[in-house]
Amino acid sequence: METVPGSSLPIAEDGGHAAKNEVPSVPDHCEVVIIGAGPFGLSIAAHLRAQGIEFRIFGKAMNTWATQMPRGMQLKSDGFATSLYDPGRKHSYEKYCADHGIPYDDLGIAPTIESFIAHGLEFQKALVPNLEDRTVTAIETSSEGHVLKFAEGPDCVAKSLIVAAGISHFAHIPEVLSDLPRTLLSHSADHYDLSVFKGRKVAVIGAGSSAADVAGLLHQAGADTHLICRGIIWFHNKMNLPRTLYERLRWPSSVMGPSWRSFLLAKFPLLFHRFPVETRLKIVRTYLGPAPAYFSKDMVLGRVSTHLGLEPTAAAPNGDGIELTLVNSGGEARKFQADHVICATGYKATLAGLPFMSSPLLERIAAVAGTPILNTNFESSVPGLYFVGALAANSFGPVVRFACGAEFAAPRLARHLARARHKASSPAGANASQVSPARETAPAAGAEGR
Ligand SMILES: Cc1cc2nc3c(=O)[nH]c(=O)nc-3n(C[C@H](O)[C@H](O)[C@H](O)COP(=O)(O)OP(=O)(O)OC[C@H]3O[C@@H](n4cnc5c(N)ncnc54)[C@H](O)[C@@H]3O)c2cc1C
Repeated sequence: METVPGSSLPIAEDGGHAAKNEVPSVPDHCEVVIIGAGPFGLSIAAHLRAQGIEFRIFGKAMNTWATQMPRGMQLKSDGFATSLYDPGRKHSYEKYCADHGIPYDDLGIAPTIESFIAHGLEFQKALVPNLEDRTVTAIETSSEGHVLKFAEGPDCVAKSLIVAAGISHFAHIPEVLSDLPRTLLSHSADHYDLSVFKGRKVAVIGAGSSAADVAGLLHQAGADTHLICRGIIWFHNKMNLPRTLYERLRWPSSVMGPSWRSFLLAKFPLLFHRFPVETRLKIVRTYLGPAPAYFSKDMVLGRVSTHLGLEPTAAAPNGDGIELTLVNSGGEARKFQADHVICATGYKATLAGLPFMSSPLLERIAAVAGTPILNTNFESSVPGLYFVGALAANSFGPVVRFACGAEFAAPRLARHLARARHKASSPAGANASQVSPARETAPAAGAEGR
C-alpha cells in the first residue's frame, strides 16, 4: 500500500490521509509518536529523524505562537536563546535571520514573533515534512502501546509517546472571573489579532510580560486600554552593550537572562533533577516573577491607563459590557466598567489540564503538584510515556518552559529512544520483553507521591 512519505498512514485517493470510513479500523502502529509541533515537538522530531527512528508527529506547526499570542509581539528571550534545534544547528534562528535579511544579534535585538514563527515553519518544512495536521482527542493504553484517537481518521498505536503539547491547554483565569462569557472576558491566549478591539474600552489584568504586551498592542490598535494589577509593574532595564568584564562575571549571560541563578538553572537541568522535590517546586514557583521586557515599557508608560494596587474580586455583565469590582490592599472597593476584560494571568500546567488524557491513564501517572514525575529521560511512571515543555519544569527546572529548553530535551530524548530501540532489537532485549513486557514494569520515577 502506498503511504505518506515518512509515515505509515495510507494515502487516500484524493491524496490526503484516508478518512475513517475508507479504511479498515485497524490502527496504525508506530515506534514513536509526538503530540504537538511547537519548538519542542519539532526539535525532537528533527533529532529522531537524524537517529533514523521511525516516528509520527501530530499537530499544526507553531500553532501556539500563531494563534495564542498577539501579532506584533517581541520575544523576551534574547536572539541566542530563541530557536528551534536540529543536530548540527544548520537550521537555527540565527541562520534563518541571516538567510532572510532579518536583523539579528545574540543580545540587544529582540526577535519578533513573526520572524520566530516563520523560522519554525521553515524548520518544519525542511526537517519534519511528515508532520500530520491532526488533533489528538484521546489517549488510552492497551497491551500494544499507547492508542491515540483523533476527531477524524484511524487510530494510531505508539510504543513510545512524547507529549509536547506546550502551554496551549493551560491558560489560567482567576476563579472569581471564570464564570463570565468569553465574549466579555477572555484570556490573553484567546487573541492573536487585537485590532478587533479598536475603539473599545478594554481592561487588561496582570503585571507580567503578556499583560504589558497585550496592553501596549491594544493601545497601538486603537483601543482605550486600562492595565489593572495587584501590585506595581517592574520593567526590566535594557542591557548596556557591550558588557564589561565585571558585568559578565557578576551577571553571567544565560538563555534565561543574565544572573548566576539563571546561568546555573539553564546549564544544569540534570543537577536540578537531583534536588529534593520541595526545593524543585519552590524554585519553579518563585523563579522569574512577573516583569515585562524593557521594550514593553515604551509601549505602556504614558500610553495605557494603569490602575495599580487593585485586585478584581468580582465581575458581572452590565449593559453591553462588564463591570469589575476592584479592591485595594486596605479593602476598599470600587467599580470599573469596560467593554471587555482580558486576563493576562498566565498558565497553570497540570496533567489534568490536557483534554486528551483519559482518567485511567491519568491515575497511572505518578505526579507531584499535578505534574508528572519524570526520570532523567523525561519518561513518566507509565513506561514509554514522555512529557516535555512546561509539564517537565518541576523535574528539570524552568529552562524547559522556554523554547531554548529543547536544546537539552531533544538530543537527550532521541539518544534515549535510539538506545531503547537498540536494546529491544538485540536478542537479549527481545527475550526480556517477552518475559516482562515494558508496560508492566514498576514506575520509573523517583520517590515523590502522587
Ligand atoms: C505571551 C508569551 C510569550 C512568550 N515568550 C517567550 C519567549 O520570548 N521565549 C521563549 O522561549 N518562550 C516564550 N514563551 C513560552 C513559550 O510558550 C514556550 O517557549 C514554547 O512555546 C515551548 O514550546 P513547546 O513546544 O513546549 O510548546 P508550544 O509552542 O505551546 O507547542 C505545543 C504544540 O502542541 C500542539 N498541541 C496541543 N495539543 C494538541 C493535540 N491534542 N493534538 C495535536 N497538537 C496539539 C499545540 O497546538 C502547539 O502547537 C512565551 C509564552 C507566552 C504565552
